[in-house]
Amino acid sequence: MIGRVALPCPVYLDIMFNNLYLYLQLIVTLILKKALMFKIIVFAILSLFSNILFADAVLQVRKVDDNVYALVGELSQRSKDNLANNSTHGVIVTDDGVILIDSGGSYLGAEHIHKVIQTITDKPIKIVINTGGQDHRWLGNEYYQKLGARIIASSYAQDDQKSRADSQMSRLDNLIGDSLKNTNPVFATETFDSIKPIELGKVKLELHYFGPAHTVGDIIAWMPNKRIMFAGDIVFNNRMLGIGPARNFQSWIDVFEKMASFKPSHIVPGHGDPSNLQEATKNTYQYLVFLKSKIAEILDKDGDMQDALKIDQSKYNYLKNHESIAGKNAQWVFQQMEFDY
Ligand SMILES: [Zn+2]
Repeated sequence: MIGRVALPCPVYLDIMFNNLYLYLQLIVTLILKKALMFKIIVFAILSLFSNILFADAVLQVRKVDDNVYALVGELSQRSKDNLANNSTHGVIVTDDGVILIDSGGSYLGAEHIHKVIQTITDKPIKIVINTGGQDHRWLGNEYYQKLGARIIASSYAQDDQKSRADSQMSRLDNLIGDSLKNTNPVFATETFDSIKPIELGKVKLELHYFGPAHTVGDIIAWMPNKRIMFAGDIVFNNRMLGIGPARNFQSWIDVFEKMASFKPSHIVPGHGDPSNLQEATKNTYQYLVFLKSKIAEILDKDGDMQDALKIDQSKYNYLKNHESIAGKNAQWVFQQMEFDY
């Protein structure tokens, strides 16, 4: 029979053990209180950013509307850790599968995007749209081709991808090294010139090409029933845009105006957080118009490239990467406008 045996115990030992027990109880209570406080603080911080559903080192999931998400990548340069996904991607979940806007900058980047999508839904990826010719829009295509997805781009984007595939691959080799493994340039299986309607699981999308913007083949994907615009590299939020390989800032301004004429309620940009037309206008359109007007002032006074570099762009200092990009943007706009004067 097992039972407690009362051993004779001196009174002072009893008091000491009792005190020890009380101290231990106090320490445990304090630890639990601290853990609770920590949980409360974390919860409060998360509540502030309640639209962040899932976050890891590379992509954050933002809910835009029911079944519509933005995967927001880092604003800085492509790196081994971000797998060249320094970009924002769109996800639409339908009854019949997923539409992914932009496949990522590498094979591993595409695989990572898929893993993040699987935190939202287990439905298969059926359609991938490349909104342009920049690496993070399309170099993950092969991964999704293997999953059997349709891949769609404008014919201009595809020409751009074909002509720049080698240079993009060698640049990425320098920037992300081993993270580029398994990446092979695979081009869209379907292309279009101007407009292409798409339908999957009762969700209707329209793809529109308006002209060169950041790259020559940039398109928008428009979801009319929810007034959601996936704008690719036509819209930059949170970080300063770079006058891209299209080198045609005036066309970019025109393309933005055509995009804005749809009066979208939500815009999922190519870089940065999902937002609205007002934010996109402030961060992208007004910056382009600002540069144009400042360069025009310089050219009116027979100024030169050095004057372009001296333009005070400090009101856009809130945009990330402005230190490294602002001067280059002024130079590109100057070079282009110089021909027209
Ligand atoms: Zn981009």
